Amino acid sequence: MIDYLPELPPLSDLEIELLNEKVDVDSKYNLPCEVAYCKKCVISNQRPRITFDSEGVCSACRYWEKKKTVINWKEREKELADLCDRYRRDDGGFDVLVPSSGGKDSVYVAWELKTKYGMHPLTMTWAPHLYTEIGIRNFQAQVHAGLDNVCYTPNGLVHRRMTRLSTIEIGDPFQPFIYGQTYLPLKVALGHGIGLIMDGENGESEYGGDVSTESKTGFTPKDAEKFWLSSFPLDHWKDRGFSDRDLEIYSAPNFETLQNSNIERHFFSYYRDWRPQEHYYYCMENTNFAPNPMGRSEGTFSKYASLDDKIDPYHYYFALLKFGIARATSDAAHEIREGLMDREEAVRLVNRYDAEAPSEESLGVFLQYTGLTDDQLSDAMDRWRNARLWSVGDKFSKLLYQVS
Ligand SMILES: [Zn+2]
Repeated sequence: MIDYLPELPPLSDLEIELLNEKVDVDSKYNLPCEVAYCKKCVISNQRPRITFDSEGVCSACRYWEKKKTVINWKEREKELADLCDRYRRDDGGFDVLVPSSGGKDSVYVAWELKTKYGMHPLTMTWAPHLYTEIGIRNFQAQVHAGLDNVCYTPNGLVHRRMTRLSTIEIGDPFQPFIYGQTYLPLKVALGHGIGLIMDGENGESEYGGDVSTESKTGFTPKDAEKFWLSSFPLDHWKDRGFSDRDLEIYSAPNFETLQNSNIERHFFSYYRDWRPQEHYYYCMENTNFAPNPMGRSEGTFSKYASLDDKIDPYHYYFALLKFGIARATSDAAHEIREGLMDREEAVRLVNRYDAEAPSEESLGVFLQYTGLTDDQLSDAMDRWRNARLWSVGDKFSKLLYQVS
């Protein structure tokens, strides 16, 4: 038990009502009814927005082929140098904002900008729901390695209530967190007079999604809303009884102020061949990053990605319920594309770890954090479990499809 978490108010009537309703996941996410797996990696066509071509290869694998053949990285490097030249300041002010959890990818971006391009980055952290020990350790490590940081932490009572409702209503505990990821960098950049924001990777092209974003150097605020906030604008929460004060930290910046500021938001992955495992070694060497001391993370085989939040396993588990694929699939698919793993090994690891339920410890933390009972969490899972992908037995549900 975590001794500083006060008890949350009981579930609202709406939450109780929603727990008794099943969601039609297929039509909500427009999922293909026949499950297919990419011939090159292990991703399935159930990942929202991913596309497969006539040879059965996914859009992310095709993008990686372009990275190896078509994209001219020397030209991109020059574009990056020019971009930095346009924004670099010599008056001591911050000239680039890097949204950063303290994880290997964002710290790699900030450190490269600082040491190779002579920029003066400010890293900005939107705190996880509940820090893990290794997460806070790596957060501290980036600061002590030599990076300035501001950290924003939402009101815990509000964030927990939103997370609970989000788990039940949206089928993902992370939706409240995503508002902060989308809007806070813009507000922090405005507040500090920083003209350039450098995000890490474009997940749409790197992991499979909307291919129209492939050639974008970054997202406009409208793109960010489209891809990161799915169909839940912040006003949704006002209809659910959250006040303007509750929602202030999650809110969008004033659009007119933003337009007048000409802030640019770019992806580092547009300029650099994005290779997470290399970022891990890079940060071990340069910024004292440490991997998960427990070994692999729950639900996967990897030990260096997404380590900072104790409720992470439920973000991935709800994806598993809806789409039949989760964290090990995503990690293995990426490692195949990076050339670090062959498909046979990836299939073995996915079948071993992808459907792993969160540990007893993670369950206890999640229940305490959200104030849900065991039964209520089961109901929330039943609400989102995709009946096409799961068989429902007497006690346990079983995934009907596995990659082979
Ligand atoms: Zn693929």
